[in-house]
Formats: sequence, structure tokens, C-alpha cells
Amino acid sequence: MSETKILLSEREIPRYWYNIVADMPNKPLPPLHPATGEPLTADALAPLFPSGLIEQEMSQERWIEIPPEVRDIYALWRPTPLFRAHRLEKLLDTPARIYYKYEGVSPAGSHKPNTAVPQAWYNLQDGVKRITTETGAGQWGSALSFACELFGIQCEVYMVRTSYNQKPYRKLMMNTWNAQVYPSPSERTEAGRKILAENPDSPGSLGIAISEAVEMAAKHEDVRYSLGSVLNHVLLHQTVIGQEALVQMEMAGHFPDIVIGPFGGGSNFAGLAFPFLKHHLEGKQTLRAIAAEPAACPKLSRGVFRYDFGDTVGMTPLLPMYTLGHDFIPPAIHAGGLRYHGAGVVVSQLLKDKLIEAQAVDQVESFEAGVSFARTEGIIPAPEANHGIAVAVREALRAREEGTAKTILMNLSGHGNFDMASYEAYFQGGLERFELSQEEINQAVARINTPEIPQ
Ligand SMILES: *Cc1c(COP(=O)(O)O)cnc(C)c1O
Repeated sequence: MSETKILLSEREIPRYWYNIVADMPNKPLPPLHPATGEPLTADALAPLFPSGLIEQEMSQERWIEIPPEVRDIYALWRPTPLFRAHRLEKLLDTPARIYYKYEGVSPAGSHKPNTAVPQAWYNLQDGVKRITTETGAGQWGSALSFACELFGIQCEVYMVRTSYNQKPYRKLMMNTWNAQVYPSPSERTEAGRKILAENPDSPGSLGIAISEAVEMAAKHEDVRYSLGSVLNHVLLHQTVIGQEALVQMEMAGHFPDIVIGPFGGGSNFAGLAFPFLKHHLEGKQTLRAIAAEPAACPKLSRGVFRYDFGDTVGMTPLLPMYTLGHDFIPPAIHAGGLRYHGAGVVVSQLLKDKLIEAQAVDQVESFEAGVSFARTEGIIPAPEANHGIAVAVREALRAREEGTAKTILMNLSGHGNFDMASYEAYFQGGLERFELSQEEINQAVARINTPEIPQ
């Protein structure tokens, strides 16, 4: 049996982030100012984000240097291990080789600290004292709490009220890292007070929590806002994953035929896939990159490509992306991190240009795959990560039918140790299958009243 675990030394933590925009045949269209409809300027973003991140958001440079202070903190868990899933391969009786990059070894348990740490650092450079954000399931809130504490920045998290009540341990994790966590809607903001006046029992939503966090940042000089997915700079920071994996796959002696990642807004998928896609775009290798999205929120496989808001309320810039409509509320699947109506601008353009693919996975299929994974490889995956595993299983079974020894690489974006209630629901047969009718999709998309993208 060949190696199970392929490890790198700390010296091999990447020194640069890879910006795929430099190599894209069609550059992404510019975001538009929501009021004027004109391309967005750096000035318009300044009340929300620090200058270093705005620069990265708009950059076309291929390589962007990782600050040494950020690399020092990356060293707490990076480089992350790459595993060969020998036992899962055996269970599936497939000739395919399955590899997974494991991001659950970070302190917060997912890939999200890869961007939380640089985001906190660039805020520190601009003298920011407090960062606000929203969190649904709690993965992003805990990653940012951890990162802020290391730089002595106060972190203020608006947590969707239902999650706040259902996931006390995620909240306590954030408190342990010294963050203030408020159930959203809260009395602290105008947006929150308005919603509570109308409905004192509001369960909250990610859209409402974003509105509260953005309002706090916009109103205070020394406060900024932070987002854990979707934006170009977030995808950029995650490319440390794929750069390490590229070296590790080389050590394993196989360039992947297929790269897979679960897909919420696109950051962990992009982080793993983009450094491999670079070789594809240069014509050196061919590769299929597959985004694994939930069937309950299939923006890539069933949404439309057009300008839409990033949030539910309609406060953010208009982004050219695949979307189901900004007021589309996905069914309450257990993979909270994948319940987002849209997709990052860069991944959207790549999908439009057929340089990446998407597959939708029902949550029951995703948990079946996740449990098979736990029972062979040991790690209990996050419900989000289960979607990527399900697509890897599909492709491995297809390789068996075709009798081809494909190499499959997937991103195991996080562990599920705080998500056992979701596993309990699955074991008790209580997980719903959500089939969205074409009617429901058409209705959500018909409500988008923002500019069409010129053909
Ligand atoms: C947040 C999250 C995701 C989805 O977000 P992306 O930005 O699409 O990567 C996937 N897996 C885990 C474990 C997460 O926490």
C-alpha cells in the first residue's frame, strides 16, 4: 500500500497567494454601485474594508505576497495534511485514486481561518479597533474571533438567532476567543430594532445579520466589516490550500484528473482548485474542477448569470454572478455554510466560460457519503464537506463502471464535531430531501430587478 499521509514542512507554507484573475481568458465584470449603477470605486468600499483588502479585491496581479506575520500564524496549523483515502477506495471497490486535503486541522475546525487571519492583519494595519461580522452555523464567526484575538482586535459577531439558540458550543468557542456574540436581530442596530418591532420573535436570517454587521461598520469610524466567502480577496487567501496540494500531489506522483470542493460562496472550492486550474489554463494539464452544491440551493446548476445583491436586504454592491435571487431563502438544510443564494464573481465567470463544472447533491446523499467516509477514514466531516465527498463517491463509482484509474482530489473543508445534532437527525431518518420545482426557481429568479448582463 502506498502512503496514507503526505506532509510538508513549515518552510513549505506558500509565500504568495495566487490570483487567478491574471490568467482568466475573460476577466470578471466589475461590481456596480447599487445607487448609481456605475462600476464600483475603491472609495465606495472604504467605509467597510481596509485599504489592503480593497486593493486585493480589485487586483489583477498574478502573485500577491503573504505578509510574514500572517505566515507565522498560518504555521499554527499549516501546511495541512493530504491523505490518500485507501479505505474509502476499498469500500467503493474503485480503480480510482481518491485523495483529500484536510482543512479541519485549523483551530476553528475549517478552512475559514486561512482568510480570517489576513483579514484581521490588514485591518490592524489601518488602525481598526473592532471588526463586525455575521455568522450562521458559526464556522465563520469562530474563525474570525480566533484571528482577531491574536491581533488584539475586538470582534463583534451577529449570529442568526436560531443558530444562537441551537449551537451554544459554537457561541462559547467565540467567547473563549474573546468575541462578543449577539443573537440577530438585536436591539443594537436600526436594522435589528426595525425587524424586532415588526416581529419580536424573528428567528433571524443571514441577510438580517449581514445588515446589522454592515450598519455597525458604516456608522463607526474605527469599525470595519468582514466577510468569510464570495469576495475576490477571500478566494485569493484560500489559494494556500491548492498550492500546498499541488506540491503534495506531485510527491504522490499523480496530477488529479478531477478536483472537487463543497460550494457555499466558492472560497474553499476556489482555494483548492485555482492553483491546479492555472496548469489547465496554461494548457499543461487537463482537469475537471467540480463544485459540489446543495440541491436545496443550486445557484450554479439551476440559477441565472446576472447582476444581483450579495445580501438579502439589498445594501451591498451589485455583483455579476450566478444567483437564485437575493431574496431566495433556501430550505433549512443542515449544511448552513452552503445556504447562500449567490456565488463569487470569479467562480461565476469561470463557470460561464465552462472552465469549471457544478453538481447538485441532495442532503441525504451527502450524509450517506459522509457516514461512509467517517466509517472508513475516521474523520467525521462537516455537513458542508459531505457534499464534496458525495461528488467524489459519484466520480469514483463512475470510474469503476468505466474501468479507469482516475485520480480524484477533494477538499475536506472541515470536521463535523460540533454538528452531531445533524448526524443524529440523519440516523433517526429525520433529514428531508428538498427538491426545488422549476416553478419555485423561476419565481425566485423573476423577482431579481437588477440590470441584465449584456450578452
Ligand atoms: C463555510 C464553509 C463552507 C462553504 O463556504 P465556501 O466559501 O464556499 O468555502 C464549506 N465547508 C465548511 C466546513 C465551511 O465552514
